[in-house]
Amino acid sequence: MKYLELAKLYSELENEPSRLKKTEILAEFLRKLKQEKNLEIIYLLKGRIFPDYDTREIGISTQLAIKALSKSTGISDEEIIKLWKKIGDLGEVAFELVQRKKQSTLLKTNLTTEKVLENLKKLPELEGKGTVDRKISLISELLASASSLEAKYLTRTLLSDLRTGTAEGVLRDAIVWACLDKENKQDFFLVQEAYDTSTDFAEVFERAVKGKKALEESELEPGKPVKVMLYLKVKDIKEGFETVGKPAAIEYKYDGFRMMINKEKSGKIRIFTRRLEEVTKQFPEVSEYVKKYVKGESFILDSEAVGFNPKTKKYKPFQEISQRIKRKYDIKKLEKELPVEINVFDILYYNGKSLIKLPFKERTELVRKIIKPEKFKLVPSEQIITDDENKAEKFYQEALKEGEEGVMIKSLNAPYKPGARVGYGVKLKPSENEFDLVIVKAEYGTGKRAGWLTSYTVACRKDSELLEIGKVSTGLKEKSSQGLSFEEVSKKLKKLVISEHEREVQVKPEIVVTVTYQDIQKSPSYSSGFALRFPRFTALREDRSIRDIATIEEIERDYKKEK
Ligand code: ATP
Repeated sequence: MKYLELAKLYSELENEPSRLKKTEILAEFLRKLKQEKNLEIIYLLKGRIFPDYDTREIGISTQLAIKALSKSTGISDEEIIKLWKKIGDLGEVAFELVQRKKQSTLLKTNLTTEKVLENLKKLPELEGKGTVDRKISLISELLASASSLEAKYLTRTLLSDLRTGTAEGVLRDAIVWACLDKENKQDFFLVQEAYDTSTDFAEVFERAVKGKKALEESELEPGKPVKVMLYLKVKDIKEGFETVGKPAAIEYKYDGFRMMINKEKSGKIRIFTRRLEEVTKQFPEVSEYVKKYVKGESFILDSEAVGFNPKTKKYKPFQEISQRIKRKYDIKKLEKELPVEINVFDILYYNGKSLIKLPFKERTELVRKIIKPEKFKLVPSEQIITDDENKAEKFYQEALKEGEEGVMIKSLNAPYKPGARVGYGVKLKPSENEFDLVIVKAEYGTGKRAGWLTSYTVACRKDSELLEIGKVSTGLKEKSSQGLSFEEVSKKLKKLVISEHEREVQVKPEIVVTVTYQDIQKSPSYSSGFALRFPRFTALREDRSIRDIATIEEIERDYKKEK
């Protein structure tokens, strides 16, 4: 397919604010896509080049994109930067530069989506000496043969900032409109379910084209990450039982991070976080524990990794071990200093069979059957099964005394629903005013904090649209040696800058943080219509993505509760 066709589609989507009309435009495009062999084009619709379960990023910084633009247009870096500062969007800059260059030539290009995918897919693979030059070559080769419209969206794709509003929900609906019956609610569920088990829109589309039966046959596969099931919040044990029914399983709610442990039939172990990022290499000891203490040829386990002090054997809060998730060097040293215990609480697949439709009771029994518990290495989650509220309350208090976050209360009859926050289980913890939010903008500090980004605008979400809800500038330390610092967060943010305006920068929304606050107020200053009073930065959540941040509905609900 010609890339120009896609660029025109992007432009149409960008200029169409209505979600329904966007869906129709996309559905129309998908009807044409049925004829194509290469369904990877569907990844490009969301500005990606891989399926969503594959967290490899194109990973191009603004600086590098500027260099590539300069190489392909012959216009100096300085001039491009000047224009970028004026316009604020490098995509528009690319549009203008190419238009200037090609004014006299006819706007006919031969750029294809295949060529774009081919070059872009090579980018994350490049490593070592000469990487930067090779990346610039791959990109400028595309830009040199692009029309202005193509250059605009190519640049935005490189920066993961497409701005067309094509989110997961819109694409899901468009698939139903293009392939199934949009009047039938069930069809939307089917497509969503197929997406939640595969996290791959190309696969879902291919199945949808074949029909409902093919969608229903979408299966889990060890080694391919699956979206985790999430839980609702309740205020006490009574509400917990009311939601999930009696008797129920009550488990410790550990303060660690989610780990999906996969054993492929070949014996290979692969570990994913909740944002579907692979962390197998960062946790070599976990692979060893799994081989040693879990029986079975192939499986997918859902678990929480919890840090503990190797000397005192006391459990640690998540924040103290979070660095293990991203760290690519000194792995062995970190493994000794910051060991984790794996607490397995669910199983989705075992020896060639998906178990997600089985009741939780059977799944949790299997977890306990196949694990040989080894304290401080790998154990099943601490659990009681009861219909007695007093016993449950006692267990909850015990969990808090042990330093756990609270308890989970789970329905014994419920299946596992990947990707959904349904009431199949609920969480109970002492009430705390906190939300996970994403940083969308940041401001440079002054005085001794000059050079660091020290004030962060954070946002919640409404579907996939981000809505600002406040500015946070307390909670971080000055120096890295004292804990999570301005310096460290600045470093991460600087890699994500999309545009700059005086002291403020706009960043790719990737950094998820936990923010505590005193109360929620109505406020016209932020696009969410709310503001957090006395917000404080308490944790960097590297295990979470913008899918996991608080929604406007949750904020409205808590606002009403406060009133
Ligand atoms: P929180 O910030 O409270 O962890 P969340 O919104 O990030 O909540 P939820 O799914 O709502 O995530 O809450 C449950 C989380 O608690 C799980 O994602 C998991 O990481 C963790 N957890 C700890 N212990 C358990 C357990 N025994 N069963 C299920 N989840 C557990």
